[in-house]
Amino acid sequence: MKRKFSYLLKQHIGSPSKPIVQKGDKVLRGQLIAEAPKDQLGANVFSSISGEVEEVTEQQIRIIADEIQSKEYVKLTSDAPLDLIRESGLVGLGGAGFPTYAKLQKPFTGEGTVIVNAAECEPILDHNMRRIDTEADKLIKGLKIVMEAVKANKGIIAIKNIHTEEIERLKTGINESNIAVATLPNMYPMGEERAIVREVLGTLLEVDQLPMAANAIVINAETVFKIREAVEDKKPLIEKDMTVAGKLQGKLLQVMLDMPLGMLIGDVFKEAGGIGLEYGEIVMGGPFTGKRVSLEDPIIKTTGGLIATEEFWKGPEKIGLLVCACGGNKERLEQIAASMGSKVVGIEYCKQAKELKNGTRKCENPGKCPGQVQKVLKLKKDGAQALLISNCTDCSNTVMSCAPQLKLPVYHCTDGPLRAVNMKLVRRIKE
Ligand code: SF4
Repeated sequence: MKRKFSYLLKQHIGSPSKPIVQKGDKVLRGQLIAEAPKDQLGANVFSSISGEVEEVTEQQIRIIADEIQSKEYVKLTSDAPLDLIRESGLVGLGGAGFPTYAKLQKPFTGEGTVIVNAAECEPILDHNMRRIDTEADKLIKGLKIVMEAVKANKGIIAIKNIHTEEIERLKTGINESNIAVATLPNMYPMGEERAIVREVLGTLLEVDQLPMAANAIVINAETVFKIREAVEDKKPLIEKDMTVAGKLQGKLLQVMLDMPLGMLIGDVFKEAGGIGLEYGEIVMGGPFTGKRVSLEDPIIKTTGGLIATEEFWKGPEKIGLLVCACGGNKERLEQIAASMGSKVVGIEYCKQAKELKNGTRKCENPGKCPGQVQKVLKLKKDGAQALLISNCTDCSNTVMSCAPQLKLPVYHCTDGPLRAVNMKLVRRIKE
């Protein structure tokens, strides 16, 4: 049976893309099918396969793929690097989805540092490291393209200290005196943009400040790989690296490189050997920040992980939520609590999770625990018989130093994904 692909018109921060194809049109791999609206923040969308347009709606373009697919693609037509990056439809592939050309369009006027975020901070996800294993040189080339575009005098690749082989590969490939590797501690959320700036440059930004306030741009590693493809190969964004994991019929954790965007999640799992018969939910993204999706949803530009989690454990009758700004949000924890069959009797936020004007939260000092005892006591007072938390590694450690003494079992939003791949749970890490 011919496969269906679905291209959402809003896969990024900014305005939705505008379809330029109609039902019945034949399209080629790499053909532009939806444009960023003129003079608005947005991103182009390309078909990742050749086929026939089945349906165009306000939300998506559906294409039925031809049975035989070519590796050829329709090339981008721009010449200048920034124009190619804009034309390619590139957005922050680490999950942010901010259009890349907009991030790079204002060059530094004095000193400036481009930091490649190669933290791959969420547990389970491994596709950035596998790409670096074989193509470290292309990451360095991509970084040089970005540095030139924004007139940066320094480039740094930030990577967790546990990835010793990848660090060595990168160091071996760097021949420039103004490019270096910086190592990050193996804790969540060291990949958070402001955590990276703090660890690499020693500057703690305010919650509403961008890295530019520290004369820096932070850009995800996979995005940098794709920048090189756009500029040197004139290739539009049509593929995505990802980690597929959990209750699978094959290997529990599989890195799948160059998966065509728009593929339905059910088909991705089939490519991975099939999903297990029993699982809790499908999570798109990493265990901390991933969202529940269905097998009929498509993979999008920001998809980094697909995880079939362990089945939900039966929770207590009453549960309290402790919410982190860098982990699962309130709605996500409420969703998990409902799946555990528990009623939420109290909701507390980590005191560093500051609310922004748009209602989202950001951590004042990511990954450095401000103490959690008061919050835990409050939830106990609210009648909680257990806690469901989304805290960072350091704060989870603090919760575990007090909650068990109050006879409060602790569940973490990452439990389902981590149990499904037999990985260590996010719990007490130091004695
Ligand atoms: S300090 Fe609090 S808000 Fe910040 S990352 Fe840790 S749990 Fe989240």
